[in-house]
Amino acid sequence: MPRPRRTTLDPVIPAAGSSDVRVRFAPSPTGMFHVGGARSALFNWAVAKQQGGTFVLRVEDTDAARNKPEWVDGILNALAALGMHAEDPTFEGPYFQSQNVVKHREASARLYGAGRAYYCDCTREDVAARTGNAHSGYDGHCRDRGLTYEPGRALRFRTPDEGETQVVDLIRGNPTFPNSAMEDFVVARGDGSPVFLLANVVDDMDEGITHVIRGEEHLPNTPKQQLLWEALGAQPPRWAHLPVIVNEKRQKLSKRRDKVALEDYLAEGYLPEAMVNYLMLLGWAPGNDEEILPFDELVERFRIEDVNSASAFFDVKKLTAFNGEYIRAMDVGSFVSAVDPWLHAPKAPWTEEQYDAAAFGRVAPLAQSRVALLADITDNVDFLFLDEPVRDERSWAKAMKDGAAELLKDARAALADLGTWEAEPLKELVTAVGERHGLKLGKAQAPVRVAVTGRTIGLPLFESLEVLGRERTLARVDAALARLDG
Ligand code: GLU
Repeated sequence: MPRPRRTTLDPVIPAAGSSDVRVRFAPSPTGMFHVGGARSALFNWAVAKQQGGTFVLRVEDTDAARNKPEWVDGILNALAALGMHAEDPTFEGPYFQSQNVVKHREASARLYGAGRAYYCDCTREDVAARTGNAHSGYDGHCRDRGLTYEPGRALRFRTPDEGETQVVDLIRGNPTFPNSAMEDFVVARGDGSPVFLLANVVDDMDEGITHVIRGEEHLPNTPKQQLLWEALGAQPPRWAHLPVIVNEKRQKLSKRRDKVALEDYLAEGYLPEAMVNYLMLLGWAPGNDEEILPFDELVERFRIEDVNSASAFFDVKKLTAFNGEYIRAMDVGSFVSAVDPWLHAPKAPWTEEQYDAAAFGRVAPLAQSRVALLADITDNVDFLFLDEPVRDERSWAKAMKDGAAELLKDARAALADLGTWEAEPLKELVTAVGERHGLKLGKAQAPVRVAVTGRTIGLPLFESLEVLGRERTLARVDAALARLDG
């Protein structure tokens, strides 16, 4: 029996399972988990949470040739990383479409038995020869031929000749599709196996789905699927088709062209919280010009009806800026834990012996305010751990201009004699050396920075020198002087 359905999505008290709203995320495990899939999952999750409903995960794995078990794990891990995990009371599943094949076949038998579907033995070539058009839809040739099943005969749904099918789309203002424009589409293949359109509907019915929230690319399927719901005697769900996600050239994000795997973003050091926040804004805005908000608050404000139908730009720069904000908002301890994988092999360019956790702890707060990606941490602190700094030649050319050798020599002597090796006296020292060479501090510190860290940009110099220590600082200045000499 179909469940009674709510027609609106006004927020109710969000205790999981307290409302009959049931949404689902139904990925096909045919590749790396895509950021677009993550956005669909999150919008469904937000609705389920906000409504006190249920989020069903259904893995659409009926295409055995294209599915791989590791991709199923990839989906589960990615969802869990974004906070959608099976232990949460809102979460139901995963269900596997392949385990519901008996019901799919029963449904196709019912459609046939009720005269809503018929067998067809036409080949594509037959249809093209009759219609004179290789791309035309099916011409209805077998509608009244009364064929029974034989291997090789597809089952086609008999679409109504007249009238129109209107779908309730919470985002797109209830589009209407004339039935006469819909061909008699295939519901089961020549080997009897039901196609996606039917399996997807049968599973949604079976799982009591009330709202189908999915990507816009499925909109052409929706009138056909709604007809299937009706033919199978159930009240269709509400639909919501989320806008396409595009790159900076306004092209649909594609795995051939763009970086789309969620895993790749996480591996580079995008924080799951920042990803979640950013993905929630692909097609929707919380209002009041506020964008960086914790997920709970996004959930409260989210209205599926407010999602925009225009395509959503996946702006990696903006995502990165979000990530930097999230990093800065962490307490230092969490930051140190979050960057930990980058501080060790295989991600770190230094060995375990070279690494010094105490030294890292001293510069961590300085680094935290500077990195937008966790992966950026290594470039910021490698000068502390590698025996020699990573020399950036452009920085070298910029900083080691005329007079740099004299300044460095002068600084070297003063550094060797400095009483207290701390940031403040180090700063006074370089300021004084600069003055003797007619340079402001900003210009005076550049050769010292490049000599010691290899780069013109990085952590505050004097704190860096303090942590690096006198001996290593002097050795690096000497090495730079030798290079300038040679
Ligand atoms: N398995 C389909 C896909 O990944 C989803 C279909 C749906 O959400 O209805 O595109």
